[in-house]
Amino acid sequence: MEVGYVYDPIYLKHDTGQHVENAKRLEAIISHLEQTGLKQQLTPIKPRAATVEELSLVHRKEYISHIQDAAQRGGGWLDADTVMSSNSYEAAIYAAGGLIRATEAVMDGELDSAFGLVRPPGHHATSQRAMGFCLFNNIAIAAKYALAKYKLERILIIDFDVHHGNGTQATFYDDPQVLYTSTHEYPFYPGTGDIDETGAGEAKGTTVNIPLPGGCGDGEYLSVFEQIIVPAARRFNPHLILVSAGYDTHWADPLALMQLSVTGFAQIVKIIKGLADELCGGHLVFTLEGGYNLSALATSIKATFDVLLGNASIEDPLGQAPQRFATPSIASLITAIKEIHNLA
Ligand SMILES: [Zn+2]
Repeated sequence: MEVGYVYDPIYLKHDTGQHVENAKRLEAIISHLEQTGLKQQLTPIKPRAATVEELSLVHRKEYISHIQDAAQRGGGWLDADTVMSSNSYEAAIYAAGGLIRATEAVMDGELDSAFGLVRPPGHHATSQRAMGFCLFNNIAIAAKYALAKYKLERILIIDFDVHHGNGTQATFYDDPQVLYTSTHEYPFYPGTGDIDETGAGEAKGTTVNIPLPGGCGDGEYLSVFEQIIVPAARRFNPHLILVSAGYDTHWADPLALMQLSVTGFAQIVKIIKGLADELCGGHLVFTLEGGYNLSALATSIKATFDVLLGNASIEDPLGQAPQRFATPSIASLITAIKEIHNLA
């Protein structure tokens, strides 16, 4: 399998100071991939800057100028959670452009799959607002770009970050060409993502939210993927699968309360890869969203690459969750979501 990754030192220049979303995240990932020898098995993809026209596929022109102006003024806080520096505009347009390049490499058949190791992350950014550490919505821009360039009819976006990707949902809420499905802790930041948010107009049913109580672990996530995401994906029958990969779902993450392990992430990725192979010629592109425990983040990303490469062994040095909380029962939630989406 030819598996690519996008990375560039420009992503380290989005300087957030003492913020939990900082350059050390990507440094930890890259150094772990180097130390384990995995990086040699991957094909580097050189990112480029997304153009204003490409950013405008998702964002308002005034918002794009606002972020550019803020960088020129030296950055600062955009909301209570989201901060930027003088180089953040450049990093952000290379993050969006990096994911466009990864998508092109996969769609053009140069690579089987690819992962954008980029920052800032994107799934909270809306057409006119930065939030949740995100400036531009990288995955939404790449999806819009791929729909247009390759004249695709359908793209599936799977978002397993622990937070709901409100910006991605909003971008495609009335677009029947994109099925957005998200597993997320709920109620939790940003507050959206309830089961009855299912899309609007012609796109009714193409938003599939799976709001989960805190404490869910590998077993709960596998049930959700097998019983909801897999049948929803098969019915939608996409030409490309994009993944908002957030590793803040790991049990050791400092921001949330889920109990997923590295092994659990590997199992999820295996299911997603199986869907891509079955439904769309393997066309599969990941992009980095959250994940704030550096060793959980780095080992989970290595495990993701191991699955994409077809490597047999998955290392999980952190092991299973120490069971800080009782595992919740989600059987009735799964039944309710299956009913809403006629997946029974
Ligand atoms: Zn997150």
